[in-house]
Amino acid sequence: MINLSVILEDSARKYPDKNAFIFMDNHLTYAQINGAANQIAHGLVAAGIKKGDRVALSCLNLPYFPMVYFGILKAGAIVVPLSVLLKRDEIAYHLQDSGAKAYFCFEGTPELPMGTEGKAGFDASNDCKELYIITGKPSDPSPIQGEKTLGMLMGKQPVVFENVLTSADDTALIIYTSGTTGKPKGAELTHSNLLHNAMLSTDITDLVHNDRQLIVLPLFHIFAMTVLMNAGLYKGATSVLLPRFDAEAVLGLMQQHTITVFAGVPTMYWGLLNYENTKFDLKGIAKNLKTCVSGGAALPVNVLEKFEDKFEVPILEGYGMSEGSPVVTFNQKAFGKKPGSVGTPVWGVEVKVVDGEDNEVPVGEKGELIYRGHNVMKGYFNKPEENKVTLKNGWLHSGDVAVKDKDGFFFIVDRTKEMIIRKGLNVYPREIEEVMVKHEAVSMVAVIGVPDDESGEEIKACVVLQKGKKISEADLIAWTKNNIAAYKYPRIIEYMEALPMSATGKILKKELSKEITKTIH
Ligand code: ATP
Ligand code: MG
Repeated sequence: MINLSVILEDSARKYPDKNAFIFMDNHLTYAQINGAANQIAHGLVAAGIKKGDRVALSCLNLPYFPMVYFGILKAGAIVVPLSVLLKRDEIAYHLQDSGAKAYFCFEGTPELPMGTEGKAGFDASNDCKELYIITGKPSDPSPIQGEKTLGMLMGKQPVVFENVLTSADDTALIIYTSGTTGKPKGAELTHSNLLHNAMLSTDITDLVHNDRQLIVLPLFHIFAMTVLMNAGLYKGATSVLLPRFDAEAVLGLMQQHTITVFAGVPTMYWGLLNYENTKFDLKGIAKNLKTCVSGGAALPVNVLEKFEDKFEVPILEGYGMSEGSPVVTFNQKAFGKKPGSVGTPVWGVEVKVVDGEDNEVPVGEKGELIYRGHNVMKGYFNKPEENKVTLKNGWLHSGDVAVKDKDGFFFIVDRTKEMIIRKGLNVYPREIEEVMVKHEAVSMVAVIGVPDDESGEEIKACVVLQKGKKISEADLIAWTKNNIAAYKYPRIIEYMEALPMSATGKILKKELSKEITKTIH
């Protein structure tokens, strides 16, 4: 019998009075979180939720997230975390796709699917009949008349619960991919997948029980959920929660709580680097920080180096995906690190770079990254056709192009889907982005391919300039041309105030305009 909630239960026994989560002035101990999760599990069982039922959850980074998450798991049910930014129709799609029976929804979720006009967010054929609104305080009344709150579900339920029996290979989570390249897909992860990944994440961040981590990455995404929340609970560490990224708030909390472990996506490191600091003691913050990790998207080497210089703390970059629970490779302290690399495979995971026939390509050559091991999902929920392709021969086919070097370190070149074919030649946007961010006027850049009659596809760079800096499109093109092979430099530049970003902080290239603006050189 294995249930992921063992990570919380063990720490609640060892450190009952220690803070598991801090959110503003609220300090929640291990015993409180575990007790609340037990009450929620009782409530769910009483409401008829059975082993294997799906229960959806959308909640900001608040202590309610872990309470409900573990409540669902203890009841033997499957957690379906949803992004808090989903719109009404998207919520309906996710509830339908996962077949969720109940839905926990924070009252601050921008588009609560049920309005006073009725259950409009739910299709009549939807199985989801129960809505529990997570309110600011459990004693708050329901913001929608007639609907139940989390507080009402917990009621006076006992704080001790005998878990519904689950086994290691039972599904614990259906987690939707970020939707960076298309419609999000629900990856089915087991208790074993998640437990292994949480345990080895503690090696990556070098986590011990008296560490304090800052969680600003959203908990509904697999990165923060495993690498921070679950790893932190497993070790009995303390996590400080912040619902939305803001460089000033991050630095303020780092200073106030003497944060030792931080994880972010590259856009957050960009944000921290570009924040004009006048208030914080960066030296003091840096002295406490022992590990910063980056993942979820490529971290340009230039950003990594500047950040390490300014904050005097190493950033360890890793590679993962929802389908891999998520961690696949990491720059692990034990094996040393290489800038620009995503490191080496984590324990128990085999990684190969292969050609179209799944044959391993020689060291230094590009191919698709595939992997197998304890971290690989059962499959996409209800998508047998996609599973045949993605899980061919027991290997997870990532859709990412990578290179392995002679020391066994992996480098992510780009996503296959984002490769540009210009005049018959393959061009990878990441390589161009790496060059362009080196220009002193450039803050952020995203390169895409746009349809073009002559070249098939043309290269376009969407650029955000550093505050107060200016450069003409022609000059930036000319500068880039000097620093990269002639077939790779962007012919089109569009200056933008900001790049479109997903709730996880990834740049959404699919939302960038494919319009060809005037500058073709
Ligand atoms: P979708 O699959 O719905 O299009 P997504 O792939 O962004 O969205 P996630 O599971 O959150 O969904 O992200 C996994 C992907 O993120 C990987 O397949 C890879 O493309 C990218 N990624 C993760 N870490 C890195 C990294 N360190 N460097 C480059 N790319 C990375
Ligand atoms: Mg993906």
